[in-house]
Amino acid sequence: MGVHEYIDQTLEHIKRTSPGQTTFLQAATEILRNLEPLLSREDKYLKHRIIDRIVMPERTTMFRVTYMNDKNEPCSHFGYRVEFNSALGPYKGGLRFHPSVCLDIIKFLGFEQIFKNSLTGLSMGGGKGGANFDPKGKSDGEIMRFCQAFMYELYKLIGDVKDVPAGDIGVGGREIGYMFGAYKKLTNRFDGALTGKGLNWGGSLARTEATGYGSVYFAKEMLQKAGGSLEGKVCAVSGAGNVAIYTVEKLYQFGALPVTVSDSTGFIYDKEGIDLALLKRLKEVERKGLVEYVNEKKSAIFTPVSSYEAGKNGVWTVPCDAAFPSATQNELHLADIKTLYANGCRLVCEGANMPSTLDAIDFMLSKNDFLFGPAKAANAGGVATSGLEMSQNASMQKWTFDEVDNKLHTIMTNIFEDSYNTSVEFGQAGNLVLGANIAGFRKVADAMIDQGYI
Ligand code: NDP
Repeated sequence: MGVHEYIDQTLEHIKRTSPGQTTFLQAATEILRNLEPLLSREDKYLKHRIIDRIVMPERTTMFRVTYMNDKNEPCSHFGYRVEFNSALGPYKGGLRFHPSVCLDIIKFLGFEQIFKNSLTGLSMGGGKGGANFDPKGKSDGEIMRFCQAFMYELYKLIGDVKDVPAGDIGVGGREIGYMFGAYKKLTNRFDGALTGKGLNWGGSLARTEATGYGSVYFAKEMLQKAGGSLEGKVCAVSGAGNVAIYTVEKLYQFGALPVTVSDSTGFIYDKEGIDLALLKRLKEVERKGLVEYVNEKKSAIFTPVSSYEAGKNGVWTVPCDAAFPSATQNELHLADIKTLYANGCRLVCEGANMPSTLDAIDFMLSKNDFLFGPAKAANAGGVATSGLEMSQNASMQKWTFDEVDNKLHTIMTNIFEDSYNTSVEFGQAGNLVLGANIAGFRKVADAMIDQGYI
């Protein structure tokens, strides 16, 4: 059987054994298709059935989380932890609290995480978890009780050398704090079992900024290779959470002009440039919707989701030179990328996980005047800095902001070089999707072969 047929068969097998898991299938399709040139060149991966094994999580845990809301009513949610692959180190990957969370979403995120973590060059396996719990509109007390109830189950799995979760959508410093408190109480241990911790109790400086900063460092590398820079570029950013905020911050530092942000209610276009201090206050302190932005900034326009054209994300209709999707999966469709391209956009750098659909990616790769930075490379700065937090915890050290930021910058440069050089090695110079997938896969697959059939 040829490699192409073998991949087809594997994808069919996923469809049969994981029915309805279309997002996981989408992630697997992108990666496995990209591995074809490597699998055709080196037969050891087929001989050791690496592909069959790598698409199966090593362990999947699903549990009930019941907490008491402020009206003294018990509320129950599904909790998940998918420990996908530990070939390179302890399972590592964030926790997502969002109503859309289900096994499909957690598997897609966990699968991507394996290769992303491998690209960082740090000793981290891949995992992901979360719950279909919506933190929006909940009181601090409700959030705390939910986080504690979640930890009643999660603590059985995690530990500094076993599985080290972090934040993701809906899980920031507040939630990590409540979960860490519960972990300590349940285990009687103060160790680095979670990252994204508070700065005076084991957290790393620059972790909050890391994913957004890293994504912009990656864009800078792409542009530099093509003889350009971020200076003066008008940028569209989606999302208004952790990744988006620090993408905006770093874009300003490199002389670019970010003019949009978005959330689940709509998007802001501010032709003068997004007011970073206002954005941080609304989202990080007051936890308000973006519509509030226009009350304080008259130069800005808010467009509600209800007025988006069918099948299009409004934020991508704003003319820009570069786009940074930093909200969620499948938020940039084929119609969106066509609009962006027609309006002059020539770079997409993914801060979110899998924000572009497969046909949108194909479109970007088909244009030789377009630069595309895929998520698993471009947004690896967050988990890389979580890895740096683990190192600091293990050695009882605390590095300065600049030390961590410099290491982050170096890691992002290395990821770009690794992905770019791999794309050249396989005769597709500049195809960073192929480069990142093969470079990430190779290290994990070789470690799996070294460690035998387990
Ligand atoms: P946050 O929860 O801080 O922010 C998410 C933002 O995206 C919010 O503005 C939210 O709007 C918006 N959003 C979420 N879901 C949707 C949706 N279905 N439709 C429209 N808008 C939506 O999360 P992060 O910034 O941490 O994460 C953003 C993305 O980056 C995710 O894909 C995440 O997996 C990825 N990522 C995050 C890392 C990190 O270190 N935090 C690391 C690597 C990747 P609203 O508030 O209205 O819901």
